[in-house]
Amino acid sequence: MCSDSLPAIRREANVSPPPRGWVRLPRMERDVDRILISQQQIAVRVAELARQITADHTSDGEVTIVPILTGAMIFCADLIRQIPIAMQIGLLTVSSYPGRSLTTQGSQVLGQQLGDVRGRHLLLVDDILDSGGTVKLVTGLLRELGPASVRTCVLLRKDRPSAQHVPADYVGFEIPDEFVVGYGLDYNNYYRNLPDIVTLKQEVIRRMTTP
Ligand code: 5GP
Ligand code: MG
Repeated sequence: MCSDSLPAIRREANVSPPPRGWVRLPRMERDVDRILISQQQIAVRVAELARQITADHTSDGEVTIVPILTGAMIFCADLIRQIPIAMQIGLLTVSSYPGRSLTTQGSQVLGQQLGDVRGRHLLLVDDILDSGGTVKLVTGLLRELGPASVRTCVLLRKDRPSAQHVPADYVGFEIPDEFVVGYGLDYNNYYRNLPDIVTLKQEVIRRMTTP
């Protein structure tokens, strides 16, 4: 049983009308300003990246994929299922845009579950390269752990000098210097489950930033 303060989520299809006790979750689509990259475009590009990464790692030794949580979760899940090589997964949680931030507040490692990465080939996977602070911080930390190599894969790279100055081995898309959500990227921890990469309406940002 759910308490009154929690939305009851029913999984059954074709339930109409909703039974008493349902809370209608607000739809996210109406908050979208425009779709920057569609789910179809993402799927095509993720498959290309996976092919490229697979080709580059066939003669390598042991591989560990390191997604940066939470933003890279969805991208990484799609990517690694198309890389048919033996791999381990190590987790790193990094915060840079906490809560309602629209710009970086500085990157901070909140937690890690990497295992022993000595002598392993690491592939860092992140959602977006913006100021470059996160990738710089994390690649520095990983190199100190004695891996055989550290490569970086980002789904998005913003069109701003700081992002261009941080090297990335694999880049999915170059995007304008705008705040985006969807496909793992959030605003205040919402919108990660949107399948496309989108911008939000100004009024939505205003509404959510007004206390
Ligand atoms: P950087 O450290 O390069 O400035 O930013 C990297 C991190 O900031 C990303 O992993 C992501 O969590 C967050 N970030 C940067 N730009 C955006 C954006 O446009 N939208 C969202 N939702 N997060 C962003
Ligand atoms: Mg992130």
